[in-house]
Amino acid sequence: MSNMLTIVKTTNPKSKPPQNQLGFGKHFSDHMFIMDFDLENGWHSPRIVPYAPIQLDPAAMTLHYSQTVFEGLKAYRTEDGRILLFRPEQNLERLNQSNTRISIPPIPEKDVLEYLKQLIATDHDWVPAAEGTSLYIRPFIIATEPNLRVSPANTYKFLIILSPVGSYYPEGIHPVGIHIEEEYTRAVRGGTGTAKTGGNYSASYKAQEKASAHGQSQVLWLDGVEKKYIEEVGSMNVFFKINGEIVTPALNGSILPGITRKSIIEMLHDWGMPVAERRISIDELCQAYKENTLEEAFGTGTAAVISPIGEFAYNGEQMIINERKTGGLSKKLYDTLTGIQTGKLNDPYGWTIEVK
Ligand SMILES: *Cc1c(COP(=O)(O)O)cnc(C)c1O
Repeated sequence: MSNMLTIVKTTNPKSKPPQNQLGFGKHFSDHMFIMDFDLENGWHSPRIVPYAPIQLDPAAMTLHYSQTVFEGLKAYRTEDGRILLFRPEQNLERLNQSNTRISIPPIPEKDVLEYLKQLIATDHDWVPAAEGTSLYIRPFIIATEPNLRVSPANTYKFLIILSPVGSYYPEGIHPVGIHIEEEYTRAVRGGTGTAKTGGNYSASYKAQEKASAHGQSQVLWLDGVEKKYIEEVGSMNVFFKINGEIVTPALNGSILPGITRKSIIEMLHDWGMPVAERRISIDELCQAYKENTLEEAFGTGTAAVISPIGEFAYNGEQMIINERKTGGLSKKLYDTLTGIQTGKLNDPYGWTIEVK
């Protein structure tokens, strides 16, 4: 079994969608990466092939017991036409943390980073250039062994697919409304909340439907035990500025450790504005609102980077934050982080990697 990367190029390239109509996750590039795992050979046969459907046995274990993990990161086009990845080694490290939790064999991170760069180089003309657009990268692993027993599979496939995505804020960065969820739970300590694994997301749809029915765009998740402490918003981490203090929930074993979260904590530290990583209760939030000290709130994640929060709906009450305007800190973090990611600003942290 070979561990040399092979590349088979498409003879039938697709036409590219217009850059102002990309949306999110609807279009896919011309190629994809695949490698296989079995017990005898480990991870093997890394290859870049034309994007196409894959064959799965109906008994493939991933379809029955959700033994699957994924990642999400982006490649950005700079003004002078180069392609930058943002902290990809962090995503591969986290993929292996998710693997450990879901009993999937670890991938060779260094090799995979090289394969990822090769895939993007192969599809380099799929990295869009319009303001706010990027190439979303979706690595994922599925258990392919055809067997209905309830235990880890013996065979897997690792794939990477690429999707050009539109600007998250076509009309400029703007705050969203958040529904505070008191019935459904996203994750509990000891569960799978710290892993990017499919089941976490399908289990969240019900609460998202409630949020939408209440006219809000995302869910704020409380802890699963006491329904008292704030965990995340949608699939983003969450930050607050209360009376000058910047606070985010500590990684307590049920919160997904975001790379945007980590980067923001590092930037704020660098700016002399330390972030308190601690427990924050919904009562503390409501109290701060009443005392007029809840200055800003925002979500953080790869898709939106920073998503300012303009309103919380809780118990039939409304809390309007900063008159539903994007706060100064949110704006500065958004401009700085997207500036670094797209090469508009200098990258003092060495976070970006150029694909050649
Ligand atoms: C992916 C994800 C995040 C954000 O992580 P980033 O690395 O910043 O994109 C936060 N919460 C959940 C539940 C996620 O799945």
